[in-house]
Amino acid sequence: MPVIDLGMIENKTSEKLDQLRLKTIRHHDIKISKDMIVKMVCGYCKGPVHDKPHMLKIANLERSSCCTSCRSLYKEKYKGRIDSLASRNNF
Ligand SMILES: [Zn+2]
Repeated sequence: MPVIDLGMIENKTSEKLDQLRLKTIRHHDIKISKDMIVKMVCGYCKGPVHDKPHMLKIANLERSSCCTSCRSLYKEKYKGRIDSLASRNNF
């Protein structure tokens, strides 16, 4: 019976991810593959984002959403958090 070292598998996976990251950095004009899009999740409903993700940009944050309604809902949710922080600071 083969002994599976989970730690080794994890290390190999992170190594692969590092290589992938380096490749992405090296090739700035790399096209986002379909696999990458499928792996994206909606910032609001956490559902998978297929085809064209609806990008939402707040300040320097970028979030993807699966549909326009999720995008606006996420924006509202995020906006509320900023407003509450701002009003707290005003006190
Ligand atoms: Zn969604």
